[in-house]
Amino acid sequence: MKKVAFRNICAIIFIYLALADGQGQPNPRQFSAFQAIIPDVSYWSYGNNDHGQLFWQRLFPNSCAGRFQSPVDIATSRTIYNTDLKEFAIFYDPPLLGSKFEVHNNGHTVEVNTVGDFYVTNGGLQNLYKTAQFHFHWGSNNGRGSEHTVDGERAPIEMHIVNWNRDKYNSPDEAGTHPDGLAVFSILFRIAKEDNPALEPIIRVLPKVRDPDDHVLVTIPAVSIKEFLPNSPDRYFRYSGSLTTPNCSETVIWTVFEQKQYISERQLHYFRQMLASSLHLETREHRQSIQGQLQQSQGREWRTLLTDNYRPVHDLHGRTVYRSFRSLAPQSDENCNVNIALDVKLHV
Ligand SMILES: [Zn+2]
Repeated sequence: MKKVAFRNICAIIFIYLALADGQGQPNPRQFSAFQAIIPDVSYWSYGNNDHGQLFWQRLFPNSCAGRFQSPVDIATSRTIYNTDLKEFAIFYDPPLLGSKFEVHNNGHTVEVNTVGDFYVTNGGLQNLYKTAQFHFHWGSNNGRGSEHTVDGERAPIEMHIVNWNRDKYNSPDEAGTHPDGLAVFSILFRIAKEDNPALEPIIRVLPKVRDPDDHVLVTIPAVSIKEFLPNSPDRYFRYSGSLTTPNCSETVIWTVFEQKQYISERQLHYFRQMLASSLHLETREHRQSIQGQLQQSQGREWRTLLTDNYRPVHDLHGRTVYRSFRSLAPQSDENCNVNIALDVKLHV
């Protein structure tokens, strides 16, 4: 997830002069080219180059080399049941009139900015948090893509919903400098035969934002944040960690939902067709070194597909991962009702 995204939000609001068409239709707009050259948006990458993950610690020495980094592997048998981790309160639901989502490709991920009032509290959070944006991390095949792993298993795609502490801080940027500043939801996905209808409005506009160099931002109607959560949002893991992208600041209260959401192969395919920024192709040598990963984009130049945009898991270094539910009874993503029944039988 992205510290830089907050700057994006401010910049986009400033330069985004277009108005929605008023008919609820996706509305592609160009936005200013200077957006793409904000240094910390494009200074790092996931690739095997000078700005790749092996160099994040050198590029951002104050934070990416910290001891309490994210993502992590969640070894479920070592998690501790915490009775303070109650159900979340999410509002407004449905979104207020005039709320909308703005979809764009920032060169590192597909990011959806929320415009309007979206808030979350409870769930073990001490304050009211405002939802700023959500985005995704995905893989080039179904065996990779998520940032967090559960018992060593990696999901093909992970969604992060980024919320900032509206009670204590004045802006997302300010919140991003405090240990309780950010609360991020992590939703892991499994492959299903059917499309996920909650994702479909976003999927439909991905071709319009495929190339980050086009600087296109598409407005779509907002939907309830709850639509993206699994069926049992009261079952989750909790730990303290960091942003998973530079500057990797250790300011995140993480919630990783136990149950997976679902996505179809067809929907996932659209994510895998996104392009990384051409700014990542700094030198001819670099282009040659990664030629096998390049795709030609409309005859213009060789470009890198935006995929495998995830950070490896990091050591917990003594941190505890808590869980909101008593039982670790096996849970099937296909039929959570059966597992809830198991819970009751074993522990009530
Ligand atoms: Zn993320």
